[in-house]
Amino acid sequence: MADDSQGGFFSELFAPVAGFGVTFATMFRKVATQEYPEVKWPTQPRFHGRHQLNRHPDGLEKCVGCELCAWACPADAIFVQGGDNDDERGLRFSPGERYGHIYQINYLRCIFCGLCIEACPTRALTMTNEYELADNNRADLIFTKEQLLAPMQEGMLPAPHPMVDGMEERDYYQGKVTAATDEQRRWFEQHAAPADESAETTEEVR
Ligand code: SF4
Ligand code: SF4
Repeated sequence: MADDSQGGFFSELFAPVAGFGVTFATMFRKVATQEYPEVKWPTQPRFHGRHQLNRHPDGLEKCVGCELCAWACPADAIFVQGGDNDDERGLRFSPGERYGHIYQINYLRCIFCGLCIEACPTRALTMTNEYELADNNRADLIFTKEQLLAPMQEGMLPAPHPMVDGMEERDYYQGKVTAATDEQRRWFEQHAAPADESAETTEEVR
C-alpha cells in the first residue's frame, strides 16, 4: 500500500512536467499547417475544379450548344442557349451547325460531381484543377461563357471565323485540324471582329 501511495504522489508531482515535455517535443516536429493562400497544395491530377469550355486547334469552339450538360446536371447549375452558326454573316463559332450562344455555370449550385463533363458529346466541357472559387457576392459566382472559355493557344484564332477550307465537322474531331490556316488568318484580318454574338445577356441561370 505504501508503494502505491508513493507512486501516485510522484506521478502527480511530475504530471505538469510531462505535459510540458509533450509541448516541448511538438515544437520541433514538422509543421503540418501551411500559410494559405501564400502556399497552395497542388491538387491531384484528376481533381474536379472549375469548368473549362475547350476550343479546337484553330480556335473555333467545341461547344455545339446541345444542352446535354445542362440536362445531366443534378443541381440545375448550367444554363445553355444554343445559336446557329452563320457563315454569310461571318458568325461561325464552332465547326457544326450550332454553337453555345449563352453558357453559364452557377457555382452557388454546382456540387462538382462531373456528370456534365461525362454527358458532353464533344469534350467541349472539361474540369480544371482550379478550386479558388470563393467570392463575396452571389452574382460573381455565375460564370459566363467568356470566363469559362479556354485561353487562346499558339496557332489559334478567336472565333468567329470560317472553318478550315475543305474540312468538315468530323475532320475536326478526327484531329485533322492542327492550327488556323493562312486563309483563316487573312479572313480574320479582313473582317474586323464582328459584334460578338456570344455576348452574355443579363439572363440568369434558372
Ligand atoms: S459538376 Fe455536377 S453539379 Fe456541377 S455543373 Fe457539372 S453536373 Fe452540375
Ligand atoms: S458543353 Fe458539351 S454538352 Fe454542354 S452544350 Fe456544349 S457541347 Fe453540349
